[in-house]
Amino acid sequence: MVVTNLTMKAFEQGLSTTRSVIVPFGSIEEHGMHLPLGTDTFHAFELARKTSELIPVFVMPPVWYGLCRSTSRHPGTLSITSPSLRMLVMDMCRSMYGQGLRNFILISGHAGGTHMSTILDAADMLLEELAEARFAVLSILDLVAQLPEGLVETPGDAHAGEVETSLMEFLKPDLVRGESPREFPKFPKFILVRDKLKYWPGGVWGDPSKSSPLKGRRILEKEADLLAGIVRKLEHFNEEKT
Ligand SMILES: [Zn+2]
Repeated sequence: MVVTNLTMKAFEQGLSTTRSVIVPFGSIEEHGMHLPLGTDTFHAFELARKTSELIPVFVMPPVWYGLCRSTSRHPGTLSITSPSLRMLVMDMCRSMYGQGLRNFILISGHAGGTHMSTILDAADMLLEELAEARFAVLSILDLVAQLPEGLVETPGDAHAGEVETSLMEFLKPDLVRGESPREFPKFPKFILVRDKLKYWPGGVWGDPSKSSPLKGRRILEKEADLLAGIVRKLEHFNEEKT
């Protein structure tokens, strides 16, 4: 149930079936020379939709804007600041809670550390504020880490590599253009740099040459299974009994 497609009545009826909602987060961010800037958002939203085919759950329209740090100088990357993202998450979830939703699964297609910790921080504050709310916060990479062994060949594949290229070849083949070489960024350890492009020129973290649309379909299906499991687990989670 994608919320933006529902009528007022259908939303109300949906609440009698489920109080759970998947909120997909993405980014507008470079994804190498070959993938669209919306890759993270397409991925998170399509995954949420696929999951809603497996179990009853509301799906919010995706949040396109995220916090992108290490790609901020690459052409096309747009980023919002941590306070804006935190407020956005809090305002959105408060409003959903007011409408009767209780189990919040915040899944992000963009897995940047600062971005994820901001969403986590917002959810943690809401946990104190909204007495009946439950929260799960995770990124796509958390799911990729749980995929069956062998499905993804490249160790450490994280950005515009084997996983995301496969997914876009399956989900949005018209938006995949040309190729990018295998690359891993070479940022100095612990030290922040201004010219991030210099240390990560191609904007790829992994190996796109290992991709295929079939692999993309398998990854998405497996991710949806895993996410459905997380939704169910959250719905039955009782802090007092664990
Ligand atoms: Zn991505």
